Order: sequence, then structure tokens, then C-alpha cells
Amino acid sequence: VTLSTGVMAQRYVVGTNASFPPFEYVEDGEIVGFDIDLVKEIAELQGFEVEFRDISFDSLIPGLASGSLDIVAAGMTITEARKEVVAFSDPYYSANQSVLVHQDSEEDLTVLFGDNDIGVQTGTTGDTWVREKLMERDILTGDIRNYDSYVFVIRDLANENIDAAVLDKPVAETYSKNNPVKVVAELITGEEYGIAVSKNNSELQKEINEGLAKVIENGTMDELIEKYF
Ligand code: GLN
Repeated sequence: VTLSTGVMAQRYVVGTNASFPPFEYVEDGEIVGFDIDLVKEIAELQGFEVEFRDISFDSLIPGLASGSLDIVAAGMTITEARKEVVAFSDPYYSANQSVLVHQDSEEDLTVLFGDNDIGVQTGTTGDTWVREKLMERDILTGDIRNYDSYVFVIRDLANENIDAAVLDKPVAETYSKNNPVKVVAELITGEEYGIAVSKNNSELQKEINEGLAKVIENGTMDELIEKYF
């Protein structure tokens, strides 16, 4: 008989959208990736447990608000609008948006003009960028096509059902390695990713920031970058 003397570790539910390689994706039925390893490492260092839920990107912030999620790790850009609703950790990765087209396409940045159809993942900064910078200014007269998963954005681009996709450049580059698509432009949006928690959970936010600082300090962050990029 083993007598447990310790207190049971706190277990947190971490929401992600596993169509965002190399940050989070499904491999052999498992959710893996840079963000997943990062959160597991932080949890280990700070002494809590985590389980991951793969849901649509636009359900992540509502999940924090309703309490069905404790943490969101989803390559989520820290924005002023989101900060109204959730609290972010310190930034852990910088990225820009990019324009992805079929590998045989002869268009470049010009694909964003005129009667083209552009795929985005709903609720992302790419979605907002296309709406605000292109649609509202009548630069794009074609359709914005909204998806719940980048897997289907890439599939439709590969099948030439859409003309382009706008998404985070590191992810576009990762998809271009195994799909008939290519990155033709970078949009300098200067985004930084943060791990999100509910706005009134400053305790957990602090915990995550402490863990993140240790991960950077002890070299694990460099190892993760080496492993995934
Ligand atoms: N970084 C982008 C955003 O925060 C996209 C994230 C994602 O689709 N997982 O909106």
C-alpha cells in the first residue's frame, strides 16, 4: 500500500486547433507540435498537469470565457481586441501573415486584387486582415471563404477551388513542403504569439510566464525551435 502524502497536481484543459503545423497538428492520431511541447514543458516545470482539446479556432476564446478551457495554446496572436476578453502570457514567437497559392499559379501578390476567392481560417488575424484591408476597401471583389480548419483550406487550394489563402507564414511554409502550394508574398503584420488564459486568472497567467521564462533560460526553447523549424 502506498500512502500518498502530496497534494494532487492541478489539471488544466488546454484548447488548441491542430491544423496549424508545426505549432499544432495531428500525427498518428495524436496532437503534437511546438506549442504542445512548450505547454507540456511549462506544466512539468510548474508542477501542473495538462490535457489537450482540438477544437475550431474561433471556439477557443469562448471556451476560456465559459470555463470549458483553462489555457489556449494555438499560435494565437496577441491583439488588443483579444486582450479585452482574455489574458496573454509574454510573447513566445513572432510571425507575419503570408499569401499562399497553388504551385502552378502565375499570380503573386496580385492574387489579392480583383475577382479572386481567398481562403482563411475563421476568427484568425488572417481572416481579419483580408476583411479589413481588402474587402472593406473593395480591393478584393471576389469572395472570402471561411474554414474551420486549415486542412480544408489547403485541400481546396490544392484542388484549385480557391485562388489563394492568407495565413501565418511559418504555417504556410510548413504546408508548402508536402502540398502543391507555394508562398508568394509576406505581409508584414508583426504578430507575436502568446498563451492565453481567462481574463480573471492572473494566477495561472503568472504561473505560465514563470514557466516560459524558465524554458527560455534553460535552453528548451532553442531545442524546440531546432526540432520544429
Ligand atoms: N496567429 C493567427 C491568429 O492568432 C492564427 C492562429 C491559428 O490559426 N491557429 O489569429
